[in-house]
Amino acid sequence: MVLENKFDLGFFPTPLHKLKNLSEQYKGYDIYIKRDDQTGLASGGNKTRKLEYLIQEAINNNCDTVITGGAQQSNHCRQTAAACVVAGLECDLVLGGNEPKIFNGNILLSHLLGAKIHFSAENRRGEDMNLLKHELKSKGKKPYMIPYGGSNGTGAMGFVNAVKELQNQLIKQDIIVEYIFFASSSGGTLAGLTLGKELYGLSAELIPINIDKIEIHGSGLEEKILKIIQDGKKLLNLNRNYSSDDIKLIRNYDKSGYGVIRQNEKNAINELAINEGILLDPVYSGRAFYGMMDFLKNEKIPLNSTVLFWHTGGLSAIFEYATSLK
Ligand SMILES: *Cc1c(COP(=O)(O)O)cnc(C)c1O
Repeated sequence: MVLENKFDLGFFPTPLHKLKNLSEQYKGYDIYIKRDDQTGLASGGNKTRKLEYLIQEAINNNCDTVITGGAQQSNHCRQTAAACVVAGLECDLVLGGNEPKIFNGNILLSHLLGAKIHFSAENRRGEDMNLLKHELKSKGKKPYMIPYGGSNGTGAMGFVNAVKELQNQLIKQDIIVEYIFFASSSGGTLAGLTLGKELYGLSAELIPINIDKIEIHGSGLEEKILKIIQDGKKLLNLNRNYSSDDIKLIRNYDKSGYGVIRQNEKNAINELAINEGILLDPVYSGRAFYGMMDFLKNEKIPLNSTVLFWHTGGLSAIFEYATSLK
C-alpha cells in the first residue's frame, strides 16, 4: 500500500491540544491546535511528512543525491537537508538570491546540516533545479529532484496519512472539529488533506489561508494544486472526481507579498505567544493564524463551532525577520 511505503523521519503523532486561554476569550469557539511544528526533524515543520514519502522514493530509485530549491528561508530546504543526513544522501539546495554575508535562520541550519547551497538570484522557487540535475548527472551522480515545497503526488501522501493520524486523535479525545485552518503555499499540504479527507471520511471543512500571491510558473495556483490532487488520487486509487472548485484558497491575507511582515503577522505572533506560550513564524503560520483569528473575530464561521489550527512550523525563520518584529 502506497501509504506504508515511507522512510521514518519524524515523531508522530504530533500533539493535538486545546488552546484553553484563547477559547475562553473567543466566546463561542473551541480552538484546538495540531502541532506539526513538533515533527522533530531539525526543528520540525510540515515538510517532514512529505519528505518521509519523497526520501523513500529517492531510495527506491537508487539515487545518491537529492536536489530541491526554494527561498533562502525555506523550511522545506532545511528539513530536506536534515532528511538527507538521516537517509545517507547528499543534498544540493538551489536557493533564491545571492550569497548573504551572514547566514541566519533556515539557510544557516541547512548549511550546518551539510547541504551544498547554490544561489539562483531572482529564482526563488527552484526554477534552476533542472540545470543542476544535468550538471550532477554529467558528474556521475544519481540525483533525485524534489519539487518546490515538496509538493507533488508522492509528497502529498504525507498529509493523507496525517488525516488518519488526526482522526485517531479526535476519536480518542472525543472532539468533533468543523473547520481546519492552515497556511497554504505550494499546495502539497492542501492536496494531501483534501485526499485524506475523502479517504478517511473527515467531515471538517478545510480553510487554506494562501500565503504567496504570485502564481507558480504562470499557471493558476488552483490548477497547480488540482494537478497534485490528481496525481495523488492515482497513487491512492481513489474514485472521486476533483475540479478547481474543490480548491478554495483564502486569498484575503496574501496581499503584502511573500515574506513581507506587516502588522497582521505581528499581531498573530503576539496573540498566540502571550496567551498560549506558543510561537508562530512570520511568513506562514503567523499569516495563517491571523487569518483564522480574523474569521473568528468577525464571525465568518458560525458561533459554537470547533476549529483547529494546523501549526505547520517555520519558527527557525523568525530570526531573519528580527528587525520587522521588534
Ligand atoms: C511550506 C510551508 C507551508 C505551506 O505548505 P505547502 O504544502 O507548501 O502549501 C506552511 N507553513 C510552513 C511553516 C511551511 O514551511
